[in-house]
Amino acid sequence: MPKIYLLDVTNRDGVQTAKLGLSKLEKTMINIYLNEMGVFQSEFGFPTSRHESRYLQTNLELAEMGVLKPLRLGGWIRAIAGDVETAFRMVPGTRHLNLSISTSNQMINGKFQGRKKRDDIIREMTAAVDAARSLGAESIGVNAEDASRTELDFLVKFGLAAKEHGADRLRYCDTLGYDNPFTIYETIRALAENVGMPIEQHCHGDLGMAVGNSIAGAKGAIDGGQDAYINTTVNGIGERSGNADLVAVVLAVTKSKGFTEKYQLGGSVDLSKAWRIARFASYAFGVPIPMNQPGVGANAFAHESGIHADGVLKDPENYELYGFEELGRGEAEFVETGREICTGEYSGISGFSHIMGRIEVSFASREEANDILELVRYANVESQKPLVEDELLFIARYPEIARKLLTLTPLE
Ligand SMILES: [Zn+2]
Repeated sequence: MPKIYLLDVTNRDGVQTAKLGLSKLEKTMINIYLNEMGVFQSEFGFPTSRHESRYLQTNLELAEMGVLKPLRLGGWIRAIAGDVETAFRMVPGTRHLNLSISTSNQMINGKFQGRKKRDDIIREMTAAVDAARSLGAESIGVNAEDASRTELDFLVKFGLAAKEHGADRLRYCDTLGYDNPFTIYETIRALAENVGMPIEQHCHGDLGMAVGNSIAGAKGAIDGGQDAYINTTVNGIGERSGNADLVAVVLAVTKSKGFTEKYQLGGSVDLSKAWRIARFASYAFGVPIPMNQPGVGANAFAHESGIHADGVLKDPENYELYGFEELGRGEAEFVETGREICTGEYSGISGFSHIMGRIEVSFASREEANDILELVRYANVESQKPLVEDELLFIARYPEIARKLLTLTPLE
């Protein structure tokens, strides 16, 4: 039976969002949390962007060390053979790629202004797939940008050409969030049946339907006999109104009426990591979690009115579909309300030792402590806010990785 896999794009769609971004260390932490949560793949960045190279390479190194395992790390680039070559030159360890090109008439005419026709799109995409294959890509997804405004016949032709050249998945991009659950189900089912390849659902929230569309699309892929790969982002952060929220997608697949009878997540997804990753992403992006956010919002398990409070006290299932413990919530949190010692780019050894002592990290020598402090300062230069415990622990545990990660010198 085909399954639903999670392919998170926080480190690609999330970070390309207007007014938002993550430091390279924060991107790394997102990968670590995704790995712990059992997400299948992280679209971890842009191999053709110079400032990403060291981050991408160090994360591939972490995968080799077993720190980022079994998570699969995939890069995103344009479906252009030249970009594929650049990607492999700049990030030689690249193994997984998604290659993107516009497929709708709107975009072909509106962006390329008559310089490209549909045949050119297919020719460029297949040349890029060939290049990726010959350079050693283990898995290739081919992205049809603006697929929801592309005629089905052309999408099928595009998908078949990709498959013939050795692509592994077709990404159906509802780039503008134009679909609804009924249309995306029909289209993705038809694609699965006619192309015979796993389909990715890449949904946006411009009409408020990103999560609903994602699971309707996944149902379409599975009913068409193919695996589904839902693209998510942590807290739904992504271009404009955002992408399908990771936690909400897991909840929708696993808790909605009758869905799991036939449509199940592949691998083992650990929902109890939801609270931690959502909180970290909120802090790192500087975007508060809305109080009514599914599962992780402040009000997701709050009850006030008489009938609700009475009902939930008698039996939580009266007013809750799932328990807060399932999402890793419920532990008391320590919030400093008095004196605070923080990390920063101008921190000194005394304050730093105090902070590390509180999280029970000790150093073999003063020299070692100074080395780690220097890395913490560099991390703060990039993030411009105090590092969280997990970041400090990461730097203390993998100082050599951190040293490369925090280096932003252009490679060429
Ligand atoms: Zn997108």
